[in-house]
Amino acid sequence: MNVRAMRALVTGASSGIGLGIATHLAERGHTVCLTDRDAASVEAAAAALRERGLAATAMRLDVTSAADIDAATAALEPDGPELLVNNAGLQHVAPLEEFPRERWELLVAVMLTGAAMLTRAALPGMRRRGFGRIVNVGSIHSLVASPYKSAYVAAKHGLIGFAKTIALETADSDITINTVCPSYVRTPLVDAQIASQARAHELPEQQIVDEIMLKPMPKHAFFTIEELGGIVEFLASDAARNVTGQSIAVDGGWTAQ
Ligand code: NAD
Repeated sequence: MNVRAMRALVTGASSGIGLGIATHLAERGHTVCLTDRDAASVEAAAAALRERGLAATAMRLDVTSAADIDAATAALEPDGPELLVNNAGLQHVAPLEEFPRERWELLVAVMLTGAAMLTRAALPGMRRRGFGRIVNVGSIHSLVASPYKSAYVAAKHGLIGFAKTIALETADSDITINTVCPSYVRTPLVDAQIASQARAHELPEQQIVDEIMLKPMPKHAFFTIEELGGIVEFLASDAARNVTGQSIAVDGGWTAQ
């Protein structure tokens, strides 16, 4: 697979999937800018990669902040990222009637509007170069719903419509935008969900994992972050230059049923 060495920017990169993708890319020779809303934690994550001899920098970037996006764009001038990974995310689980409005708006602001505005900032540089790769970290909840996750499901479904639109707007160049849609990866976000569901249902955590989380998946397994890193790398490759506007389900067969 031919993947040129790129400058990559990953959002939400001090933890979980974002850190895993950033690490995977850095290990394969890409220069990675790790970004997250907390400066100290993202700098620590980048420093750990640099200690291993990898090319990593850090930048504080809250994707809901127009000022942060402007500052990041200015800091990355004139070249900007060739590969943008819109990964930052968060979850809130509640029936709609009990869903605080601010939380609903925050989920959409981070996972949909934030991804869109950062893409908007990265596109001029990509157009100047005539090359760019944008990978959104969506979710199985970009494709199907689960109760009590209305904001998350709405934001993640929205990401697919957004990506399809930008695929059309960038079709005249070697720029692609795709959305990876994983079911479950064991990260702090998922561990918190398991713990809160166990409390809510008064069940052991293992039962929540077996009977709720992994049940819809014929393969009945969590994925590894390395698997997602490999898929991002494929989408960044020359082999995927005509893969655009797509959602790539990594769901253990969930949506095949
Ligand atoms: P995580 O909680 O480990 O990491 C999320 C990161 O996003 C954190 O570092 C957090 O600080 C950052 N973030 C939150 N709000 C931000 C903001 N305003 N600006 C910048 N960064 C912000 O969770 P994760 O599981 O690694 O999730 C990463 C992405 O993967 C999310 O978009 C999530 O929806 C998606 N996802 C996760 C799973 C899973 O099973 N873990 C499955 C499907 C999709």
